[in-house]
Amino acid sequence: MAAPRVTVVPVGKVDPAEIEAALVRVAKALGGPVELREAVPLPKATENVERAQHDARALMVQLRSKLATLRAVKVVGGAAPTAAGAPVTLAQPEAAVFVTDADLFAPQTEAVLADASGPLKTALVSVRRLREAFYRRKADPQLQRARLAKEILRGIGRARGLKECNDPSCAMSPTQTLHDVDRKGERFCAACLRRLTTGVVRV
Ligand SMILES: [Zn+2]
Repeated sequence: MAAPRVTVVPVGKVDPAEIEAALVRVAKALGGPVELREAVPLPKATENVERAQHDARALMVQLRSKLATLRAVKVVGGAAPTAAGAPVTLAQPEAAVFVTDADLFAPQTEAVLADASGPLKTALVSVRRLREAFYRRKADPQLQRARLAKEILRGIGRARGLKECNDPSCAMSPTQTLHDVDRKGERFCAACLRRLTTGVVRV
């Protein structure tokens, strides 16, 4: 069983150190390293200025089209790279997860925490509503890091075509609200991890 080849990309102003801290936990749950790429600018075209939000699907598609131009800057977790210097950029990642601090919406919703596409092998996660400050509460870096790790795990699963899971502690259990994120574990259940690592999705 090999961990899937995953690359994670900061978008716009989001702090790469914040993402890296979450990726340490993601790599642990996956049982393998995760690649971190250089940041990509937040496109303006996908913003709905009236809502002060970005169209999640349009933004994800646009970011995905830029993936090949972005270099890896670090490999987080797993065994240390054998050669010194810059990590080799994955040519064919099995899942790409973009992380933005822009607020996201989808049709008929007030906001969404994330979006994902199996055919595109891509997910988009927003940290905006994972932060306590959004709810006018005191910042809680530990809690926010755990939330981001769980949302990245779920994004990887969805990008790999996994369906929602009935195990409430699994990262693939349904997530509608922040409460759902906090309730679940920072892990995949055995069945989801198996699907993720073998690439075999049974329906
Ligand atoms: Zn599961």
